[in-house]
Amino acid sequence: MEFWFTEKQTERFGITMKVKRTLHTEKTEYQQLDMVETEEFGNMLLLDGMVMTTEVDEFVYHEMVTHVPLFTHPKPKHVLVVGGGDGGAIREVIKHPSVEEATLVDIDGKVMEYSKKYLPTIARALDDERVDVQVDDGFMHIAQSEGAYDVIMVDSTEPVGPAAKLFEKGFYEGISKALKEDGIFVAQTDNPWFHQDLIRQVYKDVSDIFPITRLYTANIPTYPSGMWTFTIGSKTYDPLAVSNDRFHDIETKYYTKDLHSASFVLPKFVQDLVK
Ligand code: SAM
Repeated sequence: MEFWFTEKQTERFGITMKVKRTLHTEKTEYQQLDMVETEEFGNMLLLDGMVMTTEVDEFVYHEMVTHVPLFTHPKPKHVLVVGGGDGGAIREVIKHPSVEEATLVDIDGKVMEYSKKYLPTIARALDDERVDVQVDDGFMHIAQSEGAYDVIMVDSTEPVGPAAKLFEKGFYEGISKALKEDGIFVAQTDNPWFHQDLIRQVYKDVSDIFPITRLYTANIPTYPSGMWTFTIGSKTYDPLAVSNDRFHDIETKYYTKDLHSASFVLPKFVQDLVK
């Protein structure tokens, strides 16, 4: 008997993966949490039936959502990750020696708990002494922060349920307030095949608030369509104007200095979304 997990990415298209076994399944206070062992991509975290991260391809997303803004800022010291309970983004954040405090705010403590248990290579930084993990609503945390952070990454689930308000203009206005006067923010903004309206709307909202707004992409095999986007909003520093001496060596498997700028080169149909 073979078992396959299928994520329907639209009503007519999906991705399917052969599953060895289910490691944990639970309806938490906020979402359905499943941890499964797949044949191809190792252990995989699902939230509400959507692929969040896998042991095998997680590095792409976690390196790109963090190193693009962190190398753009000349000296990031105080960094916030909203969501990101699997720990992958914060693991990349603390690779930067300038970072003095990395705060992670995820609404669901169960995500941290089971990521530590079944995704140890992703979640290992959650216990690092420079990391402050808070179980809280990222929307409330941002509303209560002012001039606190150099860089903020929004590593949330899709714009449904508790994450819906993390894709609204009011939240981005709150982020701008929570950032220092030369701060930078990045949000994961889904894929340009099935979520064009979201990308258009977020890009418009962010560009109304931040003087420098850009979209960049990465290739993530287990995410819907395999092509992922990130929207970056910056008060001062342009991600395409980073001096060579900024790029100090860190261990990566996807991100490189050249890919930093190349990721902003967009296919025509994606350019048209953000014109
Ligand atoms: N990289 C994944 C993606 O791009 O879809 C996201 C992974 S991460 C596990 C998503 C996290 O967002 C979840 O742990 C979820 O609990 C968290 N989340 C959703 N809404 C939130 C909110 N309002 N405040 C804080 N965290 C939230």
